[in-house]
Amino acid sequence: MRVLVTGGMGYIGSHTCIQLLNAGHDPIIVDNLSNSKPLVLDRIQKITGRRPGFVLGDVCDKRFLINVLQEHKVESVIHFAGVKSVGESNSLPIKYYENNFIGSLRLIEAMQSANVTSLVFSSSATVYGDPASVPIKESFPIQPTNPYGRSKSMVEQFLQDFQHANSDWSITLLRYFNPIGAHDSGLVGEDPNGEPSNLVPYIAQVAFGKRYSLGIFGNDYDTPDGTGIRDYVHVVDLADGHLAALNKTINTPGTHVFNLGTGRGHSVLEILRAFEEHSKLKIPYSIKPRRQGDIAKCWANVADAHKILQWKATRSLATMIKDTWNWQVMNPNGYDS
Ligand code: NAD
Ligand code: UDP
Repeated sequence: MRVLVTGGMGYIGSHTCIQLLNAGHDPIIVDNLSNSKPLVLDRIQKITGRRPGFVLGDVCDKRFLINVLQEHKVESVIHFAGVKSVGESNSLPIKYYENNFIGSLRLIEAMQSANVTSLVFSSSATVYGDPASVPIKESFPIQPTNPYGRSKSMVEQFLQDFQHANSDWSITLLRYFNPIGAHDSGLVGEDPNGEPSNLVPYIAQVAFGKRYSLGIFGNDYDTPDGTGIRDYVHVVDLADGHLAALNKTINTPGTHVFNLGTGRGHSVLEILRAFEEHSKLKIPYSIKPRRQGDIAKCWANVADAHKILQWKATRSLATMIKDTWNWQVMNPNGYDS
């Protein structure tokens, strides 16, 4: 299948392109390289023996998207392109509503013009805000607490309204929990700009000696060891979830919503200890105040993804840590190494 992958040069998109190529699909990437590097294409080719199509451009540019969709005879779209930092979204809301909301709106307009009616969209567990209980079901209330989460929930709402008015379309909303890890080759992984804001890349950089110490944001949560619990899922499992969504829903009109996680939670201290065990290194840390907007516990109910997509995350926490560490050691400065 010819699949347009917006944001396909980024962390999750690059892993998804690898799995698409391995499964015999033809991904065409559209990316403005605002948070990724051209070298990703060489790495994907090294892993798969095939080079995905790549067109430099912005998803807010409708005319450009129509040309790409028509020229490449695209059959389906996976839409990753967007910006993703919760902290930054508080200070730069226009950037978030423009790239995430306007970008998705223009993409749908372009798809409609080109008569492409199947979309898989990258949403986030952030749309649930602070849930009343865990595990989180897809039917839980949508109550994001920051501009990033609101930009995602607005896209979700728009896509549902759009599908309602265009009943032949198939739209799948995938709500990711916490993607970590890297391809086991060590050639593709997460390459944060500057100081990482996410836990696992931060720990990897401390373990490698690039940063002095991990700050743990609070140890007084209502959890067994007091630190926050999240559902960490291997990025390659997540990539496979997109293939499952593409296969299962392309011919099933409707709006489909799935959590993608493991259904298990791990605390910050558990992640730190697992990293120490694997790397055989002592990782310095200190307890800091809670980070604004953080919640105590977040993990997924993944029953629908199991049952309907027949997708299940199979990689263990040990594998997630091993692959993160392998990527860090092989690429101390990310793709600039
Ligand atoms: P990423 O930043 O690594 O990848 C996003 C890619 O989109 C980058 O290559 C960037 O250059 C590109 N891009 C950004 N704005 C664009 C635009 N306007 N036009 C064209 N390209 C553009 O991020 P990621 O971690 O791979 O996340 C992919 C998607 O998944 C995002 O939509 C993100 O919000 C969502 N998501 C990510 C996480 C996570 O923890 N990584 C969790 C939940 C949801
Ligand atoms: N965290 C932390 N120190 C850091 C980064 C994150 O203690 O430097 C904690 C954070 O408070 C949360 C967990 O690690 O409990 C996961 O945070 P991350 O930013 O990776 O993901 P998200 O907040 O999106 O779940």
